[in-house]
Amino acid sequence: MRTRPGICNRKKRFATRDEAEQAAACAPFTLRAYRCELCRNFHLTSRTKGMKIPRRELGGNA
Ligand SMILES: [Zn+2]
Repeated sequence: MRTRPGICNRKKRFATRDEAEQAAACAPFTLRAYRCELCRNFHLTSRTKGMKIPRRELGGNA
């Protein structure tokens, strides 16, 4: 997934996927953590369509 610089700067950053997913779990809607190619940190997105989700992440403890 390509991230535009503007989005990166605007979004909250998480140092680890765990941190990002914990924040996502607290949200009242579905959020996904993804690694940003620009800042190498993790962001959250509510857009899950079209995202490539590794198979191992499906059917886990979601
Ligand atoms: Zn970023």
